Amino acid sequence: MADTAPAVFFGHGSPMNAIETNRYSAAWSEFGATIAKPRAVLMVSAHWFTRGTAVTAMSQPRTIHDFGGFPVELFAVQYPAPGDPDLATQVAALAIALAGPGEESPVALDRRWGLDHGAWSVLVHVFPDADVPVVQLSIDGTKPPSWHWDLAERLNGLRDEGIMIVGSGNITHNFAELDSQATRPAPWAVEFDEQMWQAVQAGERAPLVGYEALADGLRAAPTADHFLPLVYVAAQRRPTDTVRNLVDGMDLGSFSMRSFSLS
Ligand code: ZN
Repeated sequence: MADTAPAVFFGHGSPMNAIETNRYSAAWSEFGATIAKPRAVLMVSAHWFTRGTAVTAMSQPRTIHDFGGFPVELFAVQYPAPGDPDLATQVAALAIALAGPGEESPVALDRRWGLDHGAWSVLVHVFPDADVPVVQLSIDGTKPPSWHWDLAERLNGLRDEGIMIVGSGNITHNFAELDSQATRPAPWAVEFDEQMWQAVQAGERAPLVGYEALADGLRAAPTADHFLPLVYVAAQRRPTDTVRNLVDGMDLGSFSMRSFSLS
């Protein structure tokens, strides 16, 4: 029987973290080096934000360079991890519980996407040999946070089959607040990050699915794309889990780089 796999949230920040060695990428590497290798990764990346939900079902997902204005070295990165079509089918089947009577699974099989930089910029450090299959699950931007939590809960049992559930986003992510000259973190961002971190440790659902109504919730996450991967991971919390902070800090004044694991 497979070891129960952890669930992990990575604050991915700049795509450059893929090719830089810094305290964030070093923490991701160290995490990967210290865990039992999972059977596969189910990845929820901020950068696959869609209408409707899809799951990648190809056996060899391509590496997608979904950004502009970065050095050629970054465009040269390939992450040739295999897919896992059986896992994709299993995810779609688990999601059927969220469908109405007579409806199909809300999660459709996709054969066009691949691995976007939210996935590979982190995984190149966690599993540098690209030897763990990766399946991506998209985020339906038309659904409320509570729907995402409910879907995430349906996936929890996969951990017992050795599937590591990963969210890749940022707890705070607001380009209007970006300050490349910042000498200290913005207090509002530190406070919001801390509030979410407390909620994750306490296993609380309400602050996660109700973040838009919290003070600075919409300042931290003016769009839901980078926040919802956190919801998918927080929903994996089991009472028996140890919650471990892997790294934290603020990039560019207010982008939370916190990464943590549940295991
Ligand atoms: Zn991003």
